[in-house]
Parts: sequence; C-alpha cells; structure tokens
Amino acid sequence: MIRERAYPVEPWHVREVRLDMDVLAQSESVFALSNGHVGLRGNLDEGEPHGLPGTYLNSFYELRPLPYAEAGFGFPESGQTIVNVTNGKLIRLLVDDEPLDVRYGELLSHERVLDLRAGTLHRELHWRSPAGREVKVRSTRLVSFTQRSVAMINYEVEAVDGPIRLILQSELVANETLPAQSRDPRVAAVLESPLQAEEELTTDDGGLLIHRTKVSGLRVAAAMAHDVHGPERTTIESEGYEDWVRTTVGCVLKPGQTLRVVKYLTYGWSSRRSLPALRDQVGAAEAAARLDGWDGLRREQREYLDEFWDAADVRVEGDPEVQQAVRFGLFHVLQAGARAERRPISAKGLTGPGYDGHAFWDTEMFVLPVLTYTQPSAARDALYWRHSTLAQAHERARTLNLEGAAFPWRTIDGPESSAYWPAGTAAFHIAADVADALRRYLLVTGDDTLEQEIGLELLVETARLWRSLGHHDRNGQFHIDGVTGPDEYTAVKDDNIYTNLMAQRNLLTAADCAMRRRDQAFDLGVSEEEAAAWRDAANAMHVPYDEDLDVHAQVEGFTRLQEWDFEHTPPEKYPLLLHYPYFDLYRKQVIKQADLVLAMHWRGDAFTGEQKVRNFLYYERRTVRDSSLSACTQAVMAAEVGHPELAHRYLREAALMDLHDLSENTRDGVHMASLAGAWMALVAGFGGLRDHDGTLSFSPRLSSRLSRLEFSLQWRSMHLRVDVRPHQTTYSLRHAGPDAVLELRHHGETIRVTRDQPVTVPVPPAHPSGPAPEQPPGRAPLLHLPEHAT
Ligand code: BGC
Repeated sequence: MIRERAYPVEPWHVREVRLDMDVLAQSESVFALSNGHVGLRGNLDEGEPHGLPGTYLNSFYELRPLPYAEAGFGFPESGQTIVNVTNGKLIRLLVDDEPLDVRYGELLSHERVLDLRAGTLHRELHWRSPAGREVKVRSTRLVSFTQRSVAMINYEVEAVDGPIRLILQSELVANETLPAQSRDPRVAAVLESPLQAEEELTTDDGGLLIHRTKVSGLRVAAAMAHDVHGPERTTIESEGYEDWVRTTVGCVLKPGQTLRVVKYLTYGWSSRRSLPALRDQVGAAEAAARLDGWDGLRREQREYLDEFWDAADVRVEGDPEVQQAVRFGLFHVLQAGARAERRPISAKGLTGPGYDGHAFWDTEMFVLPVLTYTQPSAARDALYWRHSTLAQAHERARTLNLEGAAFPWRTIDGPESSAYWPAGTAAFHIAADVADALRRYLLVTGDDTLEQEIGLELLVETARLWRSLGHHDRNGQFHIDGVTGPDEYTAVKDDNIYTNLMAQRNLLTAADCAMRRRDQAFDLGVSEEEAAAWRDAANAMHVPYDEDLDVHAQVEGFTRLQEWDFEHTPPEKYPLLLHYPYFDLYRKQVIKQADLVLAMHWRGDAFTGEQKVRNFLYYERRTVRDSSLSACTQAVMAAEVGHPELAHRYLREAALMDLHDLSENTRDGVHMASLAGAWMALVAGFGGLRDHDGTLSFSPRLSSRLSRLEFSLQWRSMHLRVDVRPHQTTYSLRHAGPDAVLELRHHGETIRVTRDQPVTVPVPPAHPSGPAPEQPPGRAPLLHLPEHAT
C-alpha cells in the first residue's frame, strides 16, 4: 500500500517528492499518460529500475489458449491479452563513463509531477555519479490529446560541474523482458516476446521498428525522431537491429551548459494495413508533430484540457484530499476515453496490464455515466465500439442457445475472453448495462444519429436476449434464472434483483424505441407482437422480496442462506476469493460488491424510500468490498438513505483507491471504475443526481465535512452548473441560447432554470437517519477522515 500522504495534497497536481523504490510499480500506474489510443506507464526515462515496463496501444493484443482442466461446450478457446509494445520512452544517459542510474551514486533530489491541467508528467532530478560528477535532468512527457498517435519527451541535461562528457541514448525497444506473473487472477498473463520483427530502419536522427504479433496477426509500427540542441560539436547518429533502434547524441558540457533533446514518438497499428502503409502512417504522424513542435503540442494539450475542465471540473471544499483525488480520477477517465475512438475503454485504461487489458461492464456502468455528462463524444465512441462487437455477441448468443446478443463479460475486441463461466458467461447483466448506458447517453445528448445508426439495434438485440433467457412461470411471472449479478460471490442463481430490474428497463426502453422508429424496427424484424412481448416480460418481472425480514432479496432465496462467519475471518483472508473456494462463497450470505445496493442506485425508481433504508442496513452488514467497484455505490446510497458521514468515508475510499493503493494492486494499472466512482459518489451521492424518468433530478445534501460542492453537467448543448452549499443550492446554465430553459427537480420540487436566471433554492433539513449501518468486522471503509482536513 502507498503510505498515507505519499503525494502531498495539491488541487491540480500529483507530486512525488522523492523516489520510493518500494512503490515504483504503483507510481508507474499513477503517473501513466494516455489519450485512449496510446498509453505510456510512468516508467523512469532510463528504463531502470522499473516495476513494470509498459507501453500499450488500444486493442493491440495477442491471443493465447485458455487452459481448462475440464472443458465444456461453449467455453471460449482463446483469450486476448494486451501486449506491451515497442518501448519508446527510453532515454539513457552516460555521465562521463557512468550510466545514470538512480540506484547508484547519489540521488540528491528527485521529483515527479503529474500536472492535471497541462496533461504532462514532469521529472526533475539531481544526481551525483559514483565518480562525483553532477548533473541535473529535467524531462517532461506528454501523450497528445490532439494528435492521437503522438507522444513527446522534452529532455534536458545540465552539467552542474564539469566539463562532463555526455552520451545520451534514445531508443525504441521491442520484446522487453517483463517481470514474472503472480497467482492473482487480476494480474495479466505475461506473453514472452510476443512481437516478430518485420522491418527496422534508421535515419540520422531516429528510426522505426515494425513488428507483428504471432497469432493475432496485428502489426505495429513505432517511430522516433529527435531535435537536438547542444553545444558546438554535438554529435548524433543512429543504428538499428531487429528489436531495437538507438539514436546516440554525444557532447561535452561545461558547468551550467545544457543539452536539450526533444523526442517525437509515434505509433500506428493495424490488422489490415500493409507494412508500407503503416510505415507511412507513423512517418506522417511524426511530420505533423514536427510542424507543431514541442511548444505547439504542449499548448494544444493545455487548450484541450482547459476546455475539458471548464465542462467537467468538480470543486470540493472541506476535504482537500478528495478535491485532488476527484480531479486525478477525472483525468484518468478522460485519458482512457478521449481518443479511444470506437475502441474499448478497459478496466485499467492503458495504464497497466491488469485484467489482460480487458473491458468489462465497468465501462458502461461506471465510466460512461461520467463521460456522458462531462465528455459525451467519448461516451458516444465507446457505444460505437460496443456496437462493433455485435456480430460476435450474436454468435455467442447462438452458441448459448439464446436469441439476440450476448456481450462478452471481458474482451478487447469482441470475443468472450473469460475462462470462468460462473462469473463470465453467466454475468448476462452486461447486456442491460450496455442498454442503460445507451439510454442515458441518448437522454443527455439527444443524439438522434446514434439512436438511428446503432441505438435501436442495440436495444432490440439486448431485449431479445432477455426475452429468450427468461421465461414466464405458470402464474405469468417473468424470471431470469441461473445468472450471476454484479456480486461475484453469489453466482448462477435465479432472479438476481439487479439483473431483473435492469433487464426490465432494457425491455421497456427497447419497446418504446421500436415503436418510435417503426420502419427501422420493422427492418430489424421487430413486430408489434414482439415489442408487446417485451413489455409483458418487463411488466411481469419478478422482484424477489423476503416478507418476513421486510427486505428485498439479492437473488431468490438469498436471505435464507447460511450467514458467513465473519467473526472468524481474519483480516489477512481478504480478499476472500484468494483464500476460500468459490463453492463456499456461493452458498452463503457474503457479498463481494454492491449488487442490490447498486440496483437501488440505478433503478432507484423501483424501491420506496423505506425499502432503501432497510435494504441498505441489511446488505451493508454482509458486503465485504473485495472489489473496487463497490465503495462508490455504497457512498451514493449511504448519502441517499441519510448517512452522509458514512457516504463521505466511502467516497474517500473510492477516490483514493489508487493514490493510496488501497487494493494493493495499483501496480497493475489504475482502477478506472473506482476513479469514475469518485465523481459518482460526489455528484450522485452528495449532489443526488438521478435521471430515471428522463428528467434531471437532484437531492443535494453535504456531509458535515464539506462546505461546498460544485459540479457541471452537459445537457444537450448546455452546461448546467450545480453549486451546493450546506443550506442552499444554486443551479445555473452556461453555453445556452437566450431562450433556453431547463426543467429539473430539486428534492422533488420542479424548478426552471434559464440562461439569465440562476435559481437558488434551500436544501431541506435531513430526516432523522435511523440506526447506523454496520459493516462486517474489519470491513468498514478504509480511510478515516483526517483531523487536519479542512
Ligand atoms: C469485479 C467485476 C469487475 C472486474 C473488473 C472484478 O473484481 O468483481 O465487477 O468488472 O473486477 O474491474
């Protein structure tokens, strides 16, 4: 775990003031830069020491066989694994005759700063070589939001004493050796030397490598070029081999003199394009980057982010750590999606190899709600990506003897890559998650084109899945049996409440859309009868309830299962999945992550206020949060059912997941869902945002620690700003036409906001909160509120 306060609290920066080798891999994830297309882990420029070297391209993967001791019909045969591609971050330095390596000599100072407004990672170090020569290095790295194939490094070395003979080696290296794998299923499979060399080329100031994966047949080109500014008689030359290209710059620096090298790094990959086409593509990207140069790209990066923050920033007063963390989270969410362009947003973005680089439902239910309200174009692209996998989802449904589309539980570009069917294939709720993300996107943006191009089809195909997966019993009730909901400690059970309620909405949304777009629906083969059957199923959907206990059941019969023996479960046995057989977990009342509580968030319209209070108390006692996808939802619902202080603690856990490495696996990449969840905990928790019935509604109420929460949401072409104080909330519109009016609900009251008239309304006093929820022993939210946070 990263120690408390590893990064000083600052509103717009994540700063590491000294290099801590014990958490190198974690910091590489935290400092990863990406634009959704290219991802560079925050490895040190000189490559070593490293925790985990990593350079990723969205959807660049290799296939590997999925091993089964006992295979069954319909088990996926191969899995996709993201590949660590050609590393272009490397810049090594020889100071007189010794390599700059922070493990040797004396590191007089070392600082790294992730600047959330500039979109750069800056590093400064002051090093004395074992022979006593001193240099200062300043390097700044960016992965461009405006030119998606481009990354750049501005590298400066200053001689403190001297003269010093400097040799700088800037490289492209393919097939780096990666550290061995652990047994944790959340860690990726490591592929040894996955890239086969196809071409290598050098120029005076750089070079290029082209490789291809052995099985998936994807081709990647990486190119580099350098602008060198050094003293007189600075030399530059390049050489290349199959797996590496090196540009060497040599000079002698007098004290105070500087060598500056600007490295242009460009990537391209394709499954179809020829080698010459790819070679030209990276060459062109390089030429385009050179037109702007370092200053130009840096300026564009800043402008892009200024616009993003103007629309998306969340201001938090009263908890500076959360202020920093929510911006850090938004930054990573943006990095994961900004230029993904119809490719997936995976659970770790492009920050590490965790979960093999797969996208799960995390995308639709955690990341997309945030992007829909803050950067809708990225949400749109992610929906197009999902749609691009429809043919495979059809095929999967046929294999499973079902109608419609069965989207994969985990994948990079479409095929199911989960080798564990109880928490893979059986997690059918992903279909309803896709439909819900789509519904929300359409509601918020009014994007007719998307609805017409892919929206209706996605809704129809997911509705068909539900209709064929479920059945009406002899009393007419509709059941969806033998599925797994979000809680992966309860698998293959009947009538999971989250699945049923989300499927219900999916079916109704599909029926409505099909009736609105009759001709198009007709072309998709939808008859009036079929749409009516969807409505019948939705209206007859079974929602399990325990009359004796007066709580809903997460799955049919859940509340009568044996209780988990929490008293005798020591802290070191968490996460339970690494210490107990699934067999045991599945039979008992123990919950990995919010499931029914998640249903109460997204389908809050299906529960009464009293039911929510009772359910929350019941499920809180049984939820262990062995998944990072839970705390944010518990924050949202704790806030709604009147426990704002508990909500605040859950908010902190979600927000600080990676800055504090709370799950102890940030090394494999950041937890995108949890980072998005920090936004959700604030906006849907303390802001009370809901969009159930097509109207924006808010029930703002802050925790005692917060004195102000301000956030913006995009709605159609307008920006709604919500400024929440302890006793009042102000709603105002920006970027709206003169006649624009937005109707919304504030604590149940309808109010109208116009461009020229912000509306300030009181926050009604809270109801008495009832008994305090309890968590299983030792499973209370991880971070206390620090005394000194003001
Ligand atoms: C969670 C899933 C999640 C996956 C990827 C698992 O531990 O249980 O809900 O989709 O991680 O984040």
